[in-house]
Amino acid sequence: MQIANNTVVSFHYKLEEVGGDYKEDSGNGGEPMLYLHGHRGILPGLEDAMKGRAAGDKFTVQVSPENGYGHRSEDRLQRVPVKHLIGRKKPNVGDLVTVNAKSGKVNATVVKVGRHNVDVDTNHPLAGKELKFEIEVVDVREATMEEVSHRHAHGPGGHQH
Ligand code: ZN
Repeated sequence: MQIANNTVVSFHYKLEEVGGDYKEDSGNGGEPMLYLHGHRGILPGLEDAMKGRAAGDKFTVQVSPENGYGHRSEDRLQRVPVKHLIGRKKPNVGDLVTVNAKSGKVNATVVKVGRHNVDVDTNHPLAGKELKFEIEVVDVREATMEEVSHRHAHGPGGHQH
């Protein structure tokens, strides 16, 4: 079966930042990732490259920021009181933190620590990065009606209710 809209795909991936240090590996004996194709449950650049593939296919795809986590935006740098950080009273530069903002809980990276305030960057850590994925398609199946109505895949590696 080929990957098309409303198929459920399980896959392993290796991700690395092109020209950078960031690396991620879904393998290591873990469950494959699961997603419902055609609903932007994964990065657009990755989803587009999945189309038409079948179980057992291995391929490499490079994803630009436009089709990945987007570009960095300088207006996403914010100064917040330390007390707005959740569960982290002594942050260090580079820490990933959760900020209790007006708009809700936001993930951010600490860029500067002051006495009462910290400067955080709420850009996604991979925003603005060129990414390279090595993909191995493990399985492709028809989605259930329930999955299509929820717009995500169910099961280990996918959505669990
Ligand atoms: Zn669901």
